[in-house]
Amino acid sequence: MTNHLRRCHAKAEVDRVRVGIQLTSDVRVRFSGVYVCNIYRGDEVIEKSTVTSEEYSITVADLKNGDRIEFVPEDEKNCYFELQNVEIGTDFHWQEQHTLSYRGILVIQGKEDGKLQVINNLDIEEYIRSVIGSEMAPTCPLELLKAHAIISRTWLVSQLQRKARSQHPIYKKAKLKVYDDEMIQIWDVMGHSDFDVCSDDHCQRYQGLNPDNNVDEAINETAGMILKSGGEVCDARFSKCCGGISEKFSTCWTDEDYAYLSPVRCNVDKAKDINYTGDAMSLKEWVKNPPTDVYCATKDYSILSRVLKAYDQRTTEDMFRWSVKYTREELTQLIKEKIGVEVGKVVDLRPVEMGKSGRISRLDIIGTLGHKVIGKELLIRKALSKTHLLSSAFFVEKSFDGQTEYFTLYGAGWGHGVGLCQVGAAVMAEKGFSYTEILNHYYPNSEIKLIRNS
Ligand SMILES: [Zn+2]
Ligand SMILES: [Zn+2]
Repeated sequence: MTNHLRRCHAKAEVDRVRVGIQLTSDVRVRFSGVYVCNIYRGDEVIEKSTVTSEEYSITVADLKNGDRIEFVPEDEKNCYFELQNVEIGTDFHWQEQHTLSYRGILVIQGKEDGKLQVINNLDIEEYIRSVIGSEMAPTCPLELLKAHAIISRTWLVSQLQRKARSQHPIYKKAKLKVYDDEMIQIWDVMGHSDFDVCSDDHCQRYQGLNPDNNVDEAINETAGMILKSGGEVCDARFSKCCGGISEKFSTCWTDEDYAYLSPVRCNVDKAKDINYTGDAMSLKEWVKNPPTDVYCATKDYSILSRVLKAYDQRTTEDMFRWSVKYTREELTQLIKEKIGVEVGKVVDLRPVEMGKSGRISRLDIIGTLGHKVIGKELLIRKALSKTHLLSSAFFVEKSFDGQTEYFTLYGAGWGHGVGLCQVGAAVMAEKGFSYTEILNHYYPNSEIKLIRNS
C-alpha cells in the first residue's frame, strides 16, 4: 500500500508542472473553448461557473488574499487561453511585453500585497514543447531541438525532485549571505514557493503556444528522455554562449560540483587542451586573443539567424567577446544603485575567484572608503550593468583622457556558461552531429534514460 501510494505520488510529480507567468494587479485573459471556473477559499469551492470564448479582466477587487480561481479546460488538447502584457526577459536587455497563449489550467491566486499571481498548470511534455521553441528559434536544426528537449525535461525533473525531497530550504526570494566585507547572493529555482518554475530566463523560457512541426518532431522523438549520471537525474543547466569553455556549477550556485558539468572546450576536439588556467593574467589573454576554432565563436549570421529568437539576435555581434565602458562616476553610481554597495569612489575591480571559463565568482570592489567582495556570477553581472552584464568573465582596463577616468570591461560569453552552450550546440547540429553526440559533449559522464524506466 505504502509503495503504491509513493509510486502514484512520484508519477504525479513528473506529469504536470505549475509555471508562474505573471505577478500583476490586473489579469487580462481571453479564453478559446469552454473552461470550468472554480473559485476556492482554502480547499472549498465557494463559486462555480463556466466561461467561454470571451475576454475577461480580473483585478485584485475580484479576489481576496488567499482565494484562488482555477479555470479548467473541458478539452485540454484543444482549449487555450491568451494572456495580455506578459513580460519576458525581466531586468535583462531584451525585456519586452507580449500577448501569449497557453494550454492547460489557468490559476489566479490572491496575494497579501494586493497582487495576483498567475500560474499555468499543464502537462510536462506540453511545457517542454513550448520551452524548446522559446529558448531557441523553432527553425533551428532538429538535432539541436531534440538535445534541448532532453535537457529542458531533465532540468525540470531534477528541480521537481529536489523540491519534493526538500533537500534544500525554500527561500522566499533568494539565498543571501552578507558579511562585513562580503556579499554573496545565489538565485535558484528554490526561490519560488507558489509554483514550481517561473516562465522567464531565471528558470527556463516558457512563452506559451508555439506551434511548429520541427518542435513537435523533436518532442515526439525524445518523449520521456532525460539525462542521468551515477543513477541521479542531472541538473542539466544550459546558457547562450559559453565563450570557449563551459563553466562549473559552483561558480554560479551552491558550493557543489558534478562530473557531468565538468568544464569542456566548446569544440569536440578534446586533443586540444584548455590553455586558460584560471588566473587574472591568463583571463586577459583568453579574452583578448580568443580561440577561433570553438563553436560559439561563429559569426555566421545565416546560422545565428536560424537558431536564435529575434530578440536574441540583437546580441549576436558581441556575445562571444564584448566590452562595456564606464566613467568612474558612472561605475560608482551603478554599483550603489543596483546592489546598494558603497565603498566611496571605485578605484579597482579585482577578481578573487574564477572558474574555468574565466567567469568570476567573487569580485573585490575596491573604493576610496573601503572594499566589498561580491558574488556569485549573477550578482556580479547585476551590479555592473543597468540590466545585466553579458557574463562575469571579464578583465578591466583603466584609462584617463586628461579629464575623465574610464573603466572598460572586456568580456567573454553570454550567460552563466554552465552545461550546454546553446550557440555551440547549434553549430554542432549544423555540422551534422546528432543530439546524442551534442549531449555527450556538453554533459560528460551522463547517459540518456527514459523517465518511466529510470
Ligand atoms: Zn524561476
Ligand atoms: Zn560555447
